[in-house]
Amino acid sequence: MHTIFAPITSSHLGAVSVIRISGTETSQCLKALGIKKEPAHQKISFHKISDPNNSELIDEVLVSFFKSPNSFTGEDVAEISIHASPFILKKVSSILTTQKNVRIAEAGEFSKRAFLNGKIDLVQAEAIPDLIASETESQHKQALKQLQGKLGQIYENWRFKLISISARLEAYIDFPDEDLPQTIIDEVENNVKSLTQEIKSHINDQKVGQKIKDGFNLAIIGAPNVGKSSLINFLSNSEVAIVSEIAGTTRDVVETNLSINGIAVKISDTAGIRETNDLIEKEGVKRAFKKAEEADLKIIVLDSQNPNSFNEFKDLIDEKSIILLNKIDLCEKVPNWLIRLKPITISLTKKINTSNLTKILEKKISSLLPDKSFQENSAFITQERYRTALQNSVAFLEEFSLTKNVELAAEDLRMATRQIGKITGRVDIENILDVIFSSFCIGK
Ligand code: GDP
Repeated sequence: MHTIFAPITSSHLGAVSVIRISGTETSQCLKALGIKKEPAHQKISFHKISDPNNSELIDEVLVSFFKSPNSFTGEDVAEISIHASPFILKKVSSILTTQKNVRIAEAGEFSKRAFLNGKIDLVQAEAIPDLIASETESQHKQALKQLQGKLGQIYENWRFKLISISARLEAYIDFPDEDLPQTIIDEVENNVKSLTQEIKSHINDQKVGQKIKDGFNLAIIGAPNVGKSSLINFLSNSEVAIVSEIAGTTRDVVETNLSINGIAVKISDTAGIRETNDLIEKEGVKRAFKKAEEADLKIIVLDSQNPNSFNEFKDLIDEKSIILLNKIDLCEKVPNWLIRLKPITISLTKKINTSNLTKILEKKISSLLPDKSFQENSAFITQERYRTALQNSVAFLEEFSLTKNVELAAEDLRMATRQIGKITGRVDIENILDVIFSSFCIGK
């Protein structure tokens, strides 16, 4: 197997770049750079590296060294911190590629080797890109928990339970002339039933884990000119949307990602919802309604000067909506046509009551998550792939019945077990490996 290397830091210019080398030729690679003695395990040491062709000094570096099997990949690993010069990086890469059995790593290859060498399971491997991409506290917590193996343990635990149920049955398959004792039938059927229930309630999660990862959807909707773009700019503290007096400026859906109370939120500023003959605007209005339907939370913006701003989308009002009456600076109190809905009154241009809106929004967004102790004690589905495998497993478990031939029933259990094994990578994994790791970047 080749020894692989790649820069593992971002290519944006920083002060330092790190090159990771992994494989049996790691020490040979260090030698080629002029580091004659293999560095000590888990120690950082200072070295001067030079070009083997002319002995010219290339850089002064720090090397962290990890001896197999106690490294990220399970192989010998060295991480060289060079000064972040593109020239130095190119020079080191060209020296390493000329070594025998050494090549540049493919996307995700370090993590793939870590998996193949049993250092992490697939669920942990998939937590690495999520942890790196995490921007909010809840994304970070969830990815870290997954990397520590909490989610994978749930699936492994179910797989072991299924294997032990199968083992109970297999004993009887070997003696086909004997009838299964009723106590065994009851025990096996009860175990399968309660496990099926457990998996089903894990699946029935309102996709909270995926939403923590990708962001909850917040749609801002309302008639043209009520202040939707002003609101998105206020919330995101930037000029994401164009604010203008001309109705219909926002024709498509503008999206921005925010962290509200440590939770990732995708805000979409939708085009003004109104009857229109303009084709492009019509498409925008259609998209706005779609966004409103998909949203986890909607802010319906109304204009205190314009009662009509309410009529066209009052049907969208439900328990997921916050009703906001903007431009309160132009009107002393809530107009009669709106009192019933108890709107939050606000002026975006005069900054009246905006901090109250922020507080209400934080509270509403936090309420989209399960309560804290439940969050701490469980781990949620973070990939559609897990959901599909779990659904397939449940389908086999629901097929399972000891009123039919025992061998067929045992086969249903085996299939259910395989589906769960696919999640952590314990069975038939070769074909799914490439799909997973190819979406990683080089250096992970
Ligand atoms: P959108 O079409 O719903 O996105 O509305 P905009 O955010 O583009 O705002 C439309 C117009 O209303 C702009 O001229 C804003 O300056 C103005 N506007 C927004 N909020 C307020 C407010 O609280 N008070 C007043 N008087 N004008 C506002």
